[in-house]
Amino acid sequence: MELTCPCKAVTLRISSEPVAQFWCHCADCQTVHGAAYVAESIYPAGDVEIVSGDTTSFALKTTPRISCATCGTRLVVELPGIEMRAINGYLLTDTFKPSLHIHCSEAVAPIRDNLPHYATMPAAFGGDDRRVDW
Ligand SMILES: [Zn+2]
Ligand SMILES: [Zn+2]
Repeated sequence: MELTCPCKAVTLRISSEPVAQFWCHCADCQTVHGAAYVAESIYPAGDVEIVSGDTTSFALKTTPRISCATCGTRLVVELPGIEMRAINGYLLTDTFKPSLHIHCSEAVAPIRDNLPHYATMPAAFGGDDRRVDW
């Protein structure tokens, strides 16, 4: 599947189904996006490719985040520790189907829905499976 940023300067290619799609409530995402929580869709690192267009990379702390050099939209987050790349879920529109919330212990406000709300991460992604009470 190919997709572009909103200004169409950058094209991305995704060559597998997502490993997981979720809402991230971590403090870093809040700071970087100016948002309470963000949409992320993650894939094996080799299955996400920047096909064309100029990008910039920055890290708030250690996690590299790649944006379109023209419109500034955040496109990809590198997750080198687990050999994954996350795509900004808002780029996926109708194929973004989140199944969990992560880093809820850092949330600015509870989001009450039927999805599981993990305090950090599920055990499958290196967390401890703890849930918050909302
Ligand atoms: Zn986050
Ligand atoms: Zn752009």
